[in-house]
Amino acid sequence: MIDYQQAIKAIADNITPLSPVQVPLAEGLGCVLAADVYSKLELPPADNSAMDGYAYAFSGSVDGSLTEVGFLPAGGSFSATIEEGEAIRIMTGAPLPADCDTVVPMEDTEHQGNNRIRLRKQLPCGTNVRYRGEELKAGEKILSQGQQLDPAAIGMLASAGIAEVTIYPAPCVAILSTGDELVELGETPDNGKIINSNAHLLAACLRQDGFTPVLLGIAKDQPGELEACLRQGLDADMLITTGGVSVGDRDLVQQTLSNIGFKTIFWQVATKPGKPTLFGMIGRQPVFGLPGNPGASAATYQLYARPALRMLSGHRQPFSSNLKVKLATAIKAGGKRLHFLWGNLNIVAGELQFLPSERQGSGQNRSAIGAQALFPLPIDSPPIAAGEMVEVIMLHLPLGQKTS
Ligand code: AMP
Ligand code: MG
Repeated sequence: MIDYQQAIKAIADNITPLSPVQVPLAEGLGCVLAADVYSKLELPPADNSAMDGYAYAFSGSVDGSLTEVGFLPAGGSFSATIEEGEAIRIMTGAPLPADCDTVVPMEDTEHQGNNRIRLRKQLPCGTNVRYRGEELKAGEKILSQGQQLDPAAIGMLASAGIAEVTIYPAPCVAILSTGDELVELGETPDNGKIINSNAHLLAACLRQDGFTPVLLGIAKDQPGELEACLRQGLDADMLITTGGVSVGDRDLVQQTLSNIGFKTIFWQVATKPGKPTLFGMIGRQPVFGLPGNPGASAATYQLYARPALRMLSGHRQPFSSNLKVKLATAIKAGGKRLHFLWGNLNIVAGELQFLPSERQGSGQNRSAIGAQALFPLPIDSPPIAAGEMVEVIMLHLPLGQKTS
């Protein structure tokens, strides 16, 4: 049986990003750029005023008073000459007339009647001027391949005239739940049946992370039906199954997948929860067989499927970041497998503390509710006292890495 580190290495070794696509800029939000982006425009397009105020030639304001000769709003233009000692009332963003080099803010002036204004203070030449191309030159690189597009990036690209971006698409993920005991939400679970909650759990995880779930429903633990259902997932960018990957007589997923071209990369990892986890490929499509226990499905999604999806989406840092935090309550000794404990991160007196969830059972959904981190309790670890520093795996914080 492999360990957790070997498992995540095997995933990283086998997954490459999806083929890039070109999309309208707005659709790129949250996606990773597949190519560097260069500006089409110069920003600002002309020297312009950074303030509402008066533009004038610095050299002509020797006595600190100016004559107002016109008005220039943003979007306007002014072609007449402005002589020494004259000023034009100018609004923020308006192009600076050719004869002017300095802008005094409105609040630093006084009206003296007869279109005369007085400068309350003398400003250095060039004050409050935003120069052409100061932010961006035409043809200059704005963002690099690998950068995730956030709202500020979308705004920046729009200002530079970029209407389309080349990105790695957000993966579509087929979810198939397996088990004779399952019924769909809305049906009555009689005779010991249970509701297919994993499909809802995983679809919610995927949506939260910006991926698109495609629900394939429930497959019975019967080879023919299972194979037919699995085949429906072949068009997706990733296939995730839950249940049927352990060592029970009705655990048929791995065997059935092998009928449709699946190559196992690993099966079983020395962790708790998540021991039966299956990973492999059908051609270029990654396939995860996650354990059926809801707590185990939730944990293995976070530990394996989510990073794999981030790899497909072109993220440079697909794995969750680790953070050193203080343990809020004591933890019992570790066992024979790496034990992932769910917990909350709370800010206590200005520092982050990890509070392990009270219930950690892999059969339960509850343990993961509100959890922001997983603590990997090492094999054979002695008990850990409250107040000790531990390194936890962050679940939901942004993981972006600046690339330019
Ligand atoms: P399995 O991995 O198929 O042996 O299932 C392990 C446990 O998880 C069993 O108690 C199943 O009933 C339960 N389980 C399997 N699939 C689901 C599902 N889709 N939703 C909720 N519980 C499930
Ligand atoms: Mg089962």
